[in-house]
Amino acid sequence: MSVLLSASRLVRYATCPRSYAWKYRYHYPEPGGGGRRQKLGILLHAALNRFWRAWLERRGDRTIGQLERIWGQEAVELDEAERQSGWQALRMYYLQEVAASPEPPRPFASEGRIRHSLVLERVDVHFESRYDLLVWGEPDRQGAAQLDLVEFKTARQVRSLSQLEADLQLSCYILGLRALYGHSLRSVSHYYLLSGEKLTFEVQPAHQQYALEIARRLVSQLVSGSDWEPEPGGHCRRCGYRSLCDLSRPDQLPPQTAAYLRPEQPLVLTLF
Ligand code: SF4
Repeated sequence: MSVLLSASRLVRYATCPRSYAWKYRYHYPEPGGGGRRQKLGILLHAALNRFWRAWLERRGDRTIGQLERIWGQEAVELDEAERQSGWQALRMYYLQEVAASPEPPRPFASEGRIRHSLVLERVDVHFESRYDLLVWGEPDRQGAAQLDLVEFKTARQVRSLSQLEADLQLSCYILGLRALYGHSLRSVSHYYLLSGEKLTFEVQPAHQQYALEIARRLVSQLVSGSDWEPEPGGHCRRCGYRSLCDLSRPDQLPPQTAAYLRPEQPLVLTLF
């Protein structure tokens, strides 16, 4: 049996097992958003990835003009207002994060996946996390190199992460980065491109084990096949299943619709 886990899966499980089961065991679709704003977000990520990759590969130059040229190529499908708003976001990012530093940032890698595997409760567990940018941070007290991880966000509002989300995200990244690159993680930052605001979370000693503890609980539950009872709380306000969830029924399954009929895999779970 093998299970693929990520920080967002662990956050969902730790917050509410029912919400986890409906989304990842039964694949019941959760109402989503997207549309034009999602398109803008994808193109902003693509432009930043090209800019940082060129920097890493010593192609082109590192000026704001280079970023503007890349954006001009990426944004051809957008209307004029979206092109302008995208460029304002990138320009602000460049001025704050690249030009304002006394020393230029030193990129380590741009856009990638961190994967690592281990055995928990005799189950192969594969952790997978994605990142937008890794840069070299200050060395630790012993002089060992450390990395800072940046995620670019395109939501309009800065959403402060709950402590649970921040802790699980940090611990998943710590586990993966060390396994993949042999370097320690120093911090994770969320940079909100449309507002220019940045949230930074520093790694604490407890993060090393945190994701493993939640993952162990989840794996035990998957193995035992026990109930996925709802865990109501303030997080229900953001839950896409809120209108369907009946708290008086502890073993409620998601509604049967043709859209999601996919049989459960009792032995081999491949979860994204
Ligand atoms: S509405 Fe609340 S209790 Fe119900 S599935 Fe969502 S998070 Fe869980």
